[in-house]
Amino acid sequence: MSEIIIVLMKNTDLVKIANEFGSPVYVYDGEKIESQYKRLTNAFKGVKHLKINYAVKALSNISILKLLKTLGSGIDTVSIQEVQLGLEAGFSPNQIIYTPNGVSLDEIEEAAKLGVKINIDNLSILEQFGTKHPKTPVCIRINPHVMAGGNANISVGHIDSKFGISIHQIPHLLRIVENTKMNINGIHMHTGSDILDIDVFLYASEILFETAKQFKNLEFIDFGSGFKVPYKTGDIETNIEELGKKLSSKFNAFCEDYGKDLTLAFEPGKFLVSESGHFLTKVNAVKQTTSTVFAQVDSGFNHLIRPMFYGSHHEIDNISNPNGRERFYSVVGYICETDTFGNNRRINEIKEGDILRFKNAGAYCFSMASNYNSRYRPAEVLWYRDKAHLIRKRETFDDIIHNQIAVDFSPQKKKAATV
Ligand SMILES: *Cc1c(COP(=O)(O)O)cnc(C)c1O
Repeated sequence: MSEIIIVLMKNTDLVKIANEFGSPVYVYDGEKIESQYKRLTNAFKGVKHLKINYAVKALSNISILKLLKTLGSGIDTVSIQEVQLGLEAGFSPNQIIYTPNGVSLDEIEEAAKLGVKINIDNLSILEQFGTKHPKTPVCIRINPHVMAGGNANISVGHIDSKFGISIHQIPHLLRIVENTKMNINGIHMHTGSDILDIDVFLYASEILFETAKQFKNLEFIDFGSGFKVPYKTGDIETNIEELGKKLSSKFNAFCEDYGKDLTLAFEPGKFLVSESGHFLTKVNAVKQTTSTVFAQVDSGFNHLIRPMFYGSHHEIDNISNPNGRERFYSVVGYICETDTFGNNRRINEIKEGDILRFKNAGAYCFSMASNYNSRYRPAEVLWYRDKAHLIRKRETFDDIIHNQIAVDFSPQKKKAATV
């Protein structure tokens, strides 16, 4: 009977968090993660068996994993360490799919030993694995050669991509399966981030269905991810509801033909966590040059590299002075290297000490953070049910030094004469 009242996170809550936990700090809105998860499952309610495997690499904090687990999600992992994190978070091995690229046979065997679902995207490794472990079910990652989005850096479906087994190599793949008598339980594709066009996705899915027909013991078909979320007003986002309707009906028709109700799987990262994240930084200095006003924050690409790495746009606003007069600023970091977060941004007037908030800071932000310039990585806070939970402490000098070994190269001092 008790109804949970969801209170949306407000700017003032963020300011309070920055005051309480210090800056810089990553804040994640648990309710946003929850609502995105529900939006996705709702869009696909037309299929009998749906499995969402959250892509851990987007944001890998163990409390985020635990939250997703309570929602019913599984996880998609790309390294043995992410598998271990998932087990640590309480996922059972069958809720974990391991989808690496370019790892050794040893690591795949280690994951298989832990009992997680294995996804292989390389014919050489597939043959070796199948020969040694013909009884272990394996999912195969196909490259349908469909370009998703327009940015070549994030399109992994093209002909010379290092990801997936080319559809042109299916005959070779089938020969390996036949020779080793291995058991293929799933077909997978992931055509990279930022799918602009539902039709592109549906087109790739047709290729996947065609491929799937060739395998008799399938349990699931995994459509990967690449759902686009808005980073600024006016951005196109994947129309999940429309995709859900169209893909579900295609999937159901396929299952009917195939003669078995398979599971439809997805492995979204960005879609589930991107918009939940807010990165809070403090303005150290406002610096006026001849043509530009710089706002210099207590962060840099050591904490949020996406703008410099991919040219990603993150909206920035001044949550300390939300009603101030708007002026133009270049927001930069404190790293001794060019680390421009945003050029020529219209932001409410900034004073030193103000807190600037970066939006869409949930996916590929903290998980790509480093200690460059020997700076500490930020704290992380999860806001859930109207309460702030510290989910990662800010680092300290011990974290910087603890694996380093200080070798003393100073000239040997003459030993004092011993008696
Ligand atoms: C990174 C990755 C994802 C998640 O991609 P998003 O764009 O964050 O949704 C899914 N599947 C695989 C195999 C990945 O490597």
